Amino acid sequence: MKRKINSTNVIILIVIIILLCFLIFLIFNKSNKIENKMANLINKNLKEVKEYAKANNLSLDIIYEYSKTIEKDKVIDQSIKEDNILKENQKLIVTVSKGKIGKEVYNEYNVNELGNVPIMMYHKIIDMKNDETEYTLGNVDKDGYNRTTEAFRNDLEFYYKEGYRMIRLDDYINGDIDVPLGKSPLILTFDDGDKTNFNVLGKNEDGTLKIDPNCAVGILEEFKNKYKDFNVTATFFVMDGLFGQEEYNEEILNWLVLHGYDIGNHTKTHVNFKNANETKSQEEVGYIYEKLESIIPGKYVNIVALPYGSPGDKNHPNYKYVLNGVYNGKKYNTSAALRVGWTSEVSPFNKNFDKTFLKRIRAYDNNGKEFDIQMSFENLKTNKYISDGDQNTIVIKSDSETNLGETYNKEVIKY
Ligand SMILES: [Zn+2]
Repeated sequence: MKRKINSTNVIILIVIIILLCFLIFLIFNKSNKIENKMANLINKNLKEVKEYAKANNLSLDIIYEYSKTIEKDKVIDQSIKEDNILKENQKLIVTVSKGKIGKEVYNEYNVNELGNVPIMMYHKIIDMKNDETEYTLGNVDKDGYNRTTEAFRNDLEFYYKEGYRMIRLDDYINGDIDVPLGKSPLILTFDDGDKTNFNVLGKNEDGTLKIDPNCAVGILEEFKNKYKDFNVTATFFVMDGLFGQEEYNEEILNWLVLHGYDIGNHTKTHVNFKNANETKSQEEVGYIYEKLESIIPGKYVNIVALPYGSPGDKNHPNYKYVLNGVYNGKKYNTSAALRVGWTSEVSPFNKNFDKTFLKRIRAYDNNGKEFDIQMSFENLKTNKYISDGDQNTIVIKSDSETNLGETYNKEVIKY
């Protein structure tokens, strides 16, 4: 009997064939992807990298950097790690060596890690133009303790263009200076915890703090976005009233910590240590540590900015209470203390470095005289700290070796 071709069977057969083809495609595709894993390009030369990117349909970006170990034109680092599965048109960033870092490069950039570091002292930032004040340029008062928003923006622009990059005060006192090759460290400090340092305008729809774009932090955040490599940070020294907005105290302090800023101690009532007794001195320092500990436990810095820079003498009988004492039955320790004036400080690797008595530059204008910003940065041109870009080494000029002090277990390179 002749078997009749059943159309249903034909359809089933076609479906089976299609499924088989799909399965074969899947297996093939999978095995193909296994073959397309990222290779290790470290130490490969630029020509090989370009060929590799082309063969694997990767979009290639190249960054150049000096290296301690890898020779010129060879790969130091790759953005896609070895064995990762590659996607079509994926972006691959490779860092290629500009050559081994050494004496030639140090000379080219005039590297000097025994050079001076500016610690800038600011107070209020008043939202005014410079020509709206009756004082010199950006000064808002006779002595230039407070500054206009226009002047503060100009200061930040100036520091950046002069090759300064910000570091945390707390890192500086610990000898951790992370600044790219050829750049110089800069530290910003704000005293008195004024509302113009951190002004809350209310809440955003998502519940976060709405920060005045013309307060100090607002302007700092503006520069954080403008210059990604500025490493914007600052230390704010507060008193009992914090930033003068009690309802937001907790949120402000947490916001600062979360966004890379530090909070230090400016004493409870802006005491003049010269006029205080033993008990009062310890209360003034210990109270602020206790307050900060209750709001942001362990997240503030144990650094005191001395009100009025007083006592101006480390041998004053109350000075020891700035550093150590007991308040409310609890011991406190201060790791560093800041004075009011007047010039840049030495490198933390200099034998004269004394973190318990650091000088600051008053951020004010005085036509290039009396240690104003212009004069201070003019002086720094000949003796500023210039980084080798490596946090783990201290690169110094051979003729400055006698100035070397604490080296924090880092390798010292002389040239
Ligand atoms: Zn003060």
